[in-house]
Amino acid sequence: MTRAEHNVTERDPVVIGGTGLAGYTVARELRKLDGETPIVIVSRDDGRFYSKPALSNALAMKKSPHELASFDAPAMAAQLSASVLTHRHVERIVPDERAIVVDGERLRYRALVLATGADPRRLPIRGDGAGDVLSINDLVDYTRFREVLASRHSVAILGAGLIGCEFANDLIAAGHTVSLLDPAAAPLARLLPAEAGAVFAGALSEAGVDIRLGCSVEAISRHDSGYRLTLTDGASLDADVVVSAVGLVPRTALASAAGLRIDGGIHTDAWCRTSAQDVYALGDCAAIDGRVQPYVLPIMHAARALARTLSGTLTRVDFPAMPVVVKTPSVPAVVVTPDAPGGQWTVDASTHESRHALRAICEDRETNRMTGFALLGTATVDKTALLKRLASSIVA
Ligand SMILES: Cc1cc2nc3c(=O)[nH]c(=O)nc-3n(C[C@H](O)[C@H](O)[C@H](O)COP(=O)(O)OP(=O)(O)OC[C@H]3O[C@@H](n4cnc5c(N)ncnc54)[C@H](O)[C@@H]3O)c2cc1C
Repeated sequence: MTRAEHNVTERDPVVIGGTGLAGYTVARELRKLDGETPIVIVSRDDGRFYSKPALSNALAMKKSPHELASFDAPAMAAQLSASVLTHRHVERIVPDERAIVVDGERLRYRALVLATGADPRRLPIRGDGAGDVLSINDLVDYTRFREVLASRHSVAILGAGLIGCEFANDLIAAGHTVSLLDPAAAPLARLLPAEAGAVFAGALSEAGVDIRLGCSVEAISRHDSGYRLTLTDGASLDADVVVSAVGLVPRTALASAAGLRIDGGIHTDAWCRTSAQDVYALGDCAAIDGRVQPYVLPIMHAARALARTLSGTLTRVDFPAMPVVVKTPSVPAVVVTPDAPGGQWTVDASTHESRHALRAICEDRETNRMTGFALLGTATVDKTALLKRLASSIVA
């Protein structure tokens, strides 16, 4: 069906679901190209603009949750010349009518952008304390976490991925006692080759983090004023606070109920187009061209391309090599993960004469072309040079 058949008018807005980095960045990029098209942004939260990555190093930066939010919803609306509807739920998408239902009211769109983020994954854990486990995925979660921390000392973190490791380092730096648990043999197992993971673990451990690898949590029971964790290796561990950082699940229910294709996240092609006409998706909720990439840089690239498409120039998202920076001051890390698994890693700990410095290069086994790298400690200064080498290796 064409736009004319749907009676799409110039007054129908571009509607964006979500006021996270993805939603606001699309609006900002669109405004740079087009000052006229009406934009309506709908969010179930309060629409404050804040840096989500700063949540996991705010203690060391001595920033309160309040200070992490740079603009409130009215300020964002003014900056973007947009309507920002806060504390409003997108309940349903009706693609055939080019409309969404927001708290019972229909809102027509000329284009709809889904930027609804992801939910924290929950582990199946037994015990009367399991429901008290905290996940930190937005400013409201973080505000609650800081309130709880104010009167408690020891923290057990489930999951030694990027977010678990960053929180562990931040909490140790702020004087807390931290245990970090993961079933893998090393932290950052999805990002680092095993040898680099072992060096990273050693550095966090030296900083004071009690790292427990190869084990998970079976049960959490309330104990005194805190919790007792029963681990899969038979040991037990006491902590005042338990934080889960075991990954995210893209929010796909809205899209799925409307019949849109789901593919790990809301499926889009390389132009951020979902399977429904004039409905786009990006950010933590989306699988763009088959990949969910829940990081800042992919969101920025996708938002710029999508804004061009929304302003009338169909634009493909071409992701360059995008480094992930792990904000662990005890052992900073920068990683570009290879697109395809199975490459050959070469690890060299002698390139920089300082503790925990390590450089690992991944090459394709057949062509010997560089496909990724990982840098630890002072070796992270090599980031720019290696990104250039990687770019030329991809082009070659
Ligand atoms: C602690 C932490 C540290 C991180 N550190 C880094 C880092 O160092 N580097 C990096 O690259 N990435 C990092 N990330 C990841 C990065 O922050 C995220 O990928 C990014 O912020 C996701 O933005 P988003 O807009 O897709 O989702 P979100 O920020 O989750 O926004 C989703 C929005 O959708 C709204 N919404 C959801 N459902 C509905 C509905 N039905 N109706 C209306 N509104 C709805 C929500 O209210 C929210 O406004 C970190 C993430 C966390 C949690």
